[in-house]
Amino acid sequence: MRNIHCKVFGHDYKVTRHVTYHVKEYTCKNCRRELTTNGNGNLIELTPKFREINDVLERIHYKRILRLNKHRSNQTQKKSTLRIA
Ligand SMILES: [Zn+2]
Repeated sequence: MRNIHCKVFGHDYKVTRHVTYHVKEYTCKNCRRELTTNGNGNLIELTPKFREINDVLERIHYKRILRLNKHRSNQTQKKSTLRIA
């Protein structure tokens, strides 16, 4: 009965996934209960529906980071070219 620990001491959540900078998924390491952050920054139960939403969010977030990195490396290249010239 691992849930007894949670009832007495409360859940012991660990971040299991970084979806975006603001949205994360948490799992209680005792009872495996899962939570996520919703659009308002509140913690809510991680239902299959929210897991789906997080999958989409993660994909959008990842693409944005890729684009930013690409943009940044282009700028660095330009700067170093200027320095050489
Ligand atoms: Zn728990």
